[in-house]
Amino acid sequence: MDRYQSFARSGIGRFVVGKLGLPDPHPLRRHSPGRPPLDGPVLLGGRGRLVEPVRATLGSIGLDVTTDPTERTDTAGRTDTTQRTEAAERPAALVFDATGIEKVEDLRDLHTFFHPSIRSLGPCGRVVVLGTPPASAVSRIAQRALEGFTRSVGKELKRGGTAQLVYVAEGAEGNVESTLRFLLSGRSAYVSGQVIRIGAGPVEAPDDWDAPLAGKVALVTGASRGIGAAIAEVLARDGAHVVCLDVPGQGEELSAVANRVKGSTIQLDITAPDAPARIVEHVDQRHGGVDVVVHNAGITRDRTLGRMDEGRWDAVLQVNLACQERVNQALFDSGALRPNGRVVGVSSIAGIAGNVGQTNYATTKAGVIGLVDALSEQVDGTGTTVNAVAPGFIETRMTAAVPLVIREAGRRMNSLSQGGLPVDVAETVAWFAHPASAGVNGNVVRVCGQSLLGA
Ligand code: NAD
Repeated sequence: MDRYQSFARSGIGRFVVGKLGLPDPHPLRRHSPGRPPLDGPVLLGGRGRLVEPVRATLGSIGLDVTTDPTERTDTAGRTDTTQRTEAAERPAALVFDATGIEKVEDLRDLHTFFHPSIRSLGPCGRVVVLGTPPASAVSRIAQRALEGFTRSVGKELKRGGTAQLVYVAEGAEGNVESTLRFLLSGRSAYVSGQVIRIGAGPVEAPDDWDAPLAGKVALVTGASRGIGAAIAEVLARDGAHVVCLDVPGQGEELSAVANRVKGSTIQLDITAPDAPARIVEHVDQRHGGVDVVVHNAGITRDRTLGRMDEGRWDAVLQVNLACQERVNQALFDSGALRPNGRVVGVSSIAGIAGNVGQTNYATTKAGVIGLVDALSEQVDGTGTTVNAVAPGFIETRMTAAVPLVIREAGRRMNSLSQGGLPVDVAETVAWFAHPASAGVNGNVVRVCGQSLLGA
């Protein structure tokens, strides 16, 4: 909890925050092993091709599913829940299958389901709306409209609640489990207002959902601290052997992380001309290849453009973008990235919204999105995926160095009124890395508490 958050939770703080209408950051419920994913049942509604597969999936995750007992369908097939009685137990999540929405008039179903239920949603509640990718839907208009609805719900939810829209392609009905496990749990604590796309194609369910990466090898760059260290920890928790890479100057911290996660290290500057070849050689010789590659290493060298020398420009371009392209090329060309591989980039909301003093940084972070677009198209249908996370304000050494006023603004200007933690980015990476996420390709998911920047 940051200092303001502790104050807002205190007796006097609650009073002041309430009276002045100040941001009220609710403590987020994060994943902890052994604890159930949610603190209550899931209220499932809607009518479409996903209701039944999703009901089965929620059951297999071990979640209680309730359907409104008063729900009835009229002769035109419309769902009427207006007579709803207060559910005995507050739902911890509301999941609505909107794939049956075929015309603009049907959008009324959203109001019918959510209006009576939204206020009963428990703390850190979850809203998930499921749709059909607009381009292939009967009504492109109605399905596209779901975005505005879901993002607004995210902004209205209080007490740590989040809302997402998941577009599930026709034929991908069986590919939603890893995504629902992520969204309907504390793993997605700091992800809100996102639009996620799941495609069709074969999906490999893990033998053990608690160790989905067992037997896999993951490479994480910039792993000695901050977000990279958290990614290494979460991938190792999920069963992967993690190869932790960082510059030689970070050797000691890098070894400490590698020891903690029972992984191994490569000390290497990724901008070195021979870095791609050394990475390929390392993973090939020691592990016979690599399954998950997370390009997390990144730097900032901030100056407004007129004051930015070439050195600052070039350094950021090299570390954050150019060398990733080279490393990917080498991994694909050599075959070191094994079948069903996962490539995950780390973008930033600065790459979406732009930021004063960060023309270099934002160029690279938008470039990472371009890299996802280009590579995900190339690998589509092969089982390999390419996605990126775009963190917002995450509490790390990088953000601790930001001047106080800007830092406070960055922390509060989002729907959850607080900064995220490195583990929030790491959990999102782990969802991309999951073997059952083979349908999740070409997504850029913001981990930003639904920041106002770039929204
Ligand atoms: P950090 O500075 O704490 O960690 C970055 C790591 O990358 C360091 O360990 C560093 O040594 C390593 N690195 C830098 N240059 C390297 C090189 N040439 N070769 C190998 N390793 C190198 O930063 P962080 O806050 O943990 O950020 C991690 C990633 O997340 C970065 O890509 C950053 O741009 C991105 N990001 C962070 C935030 C945030 O709020 N912290 C927000 C958006 C995006």
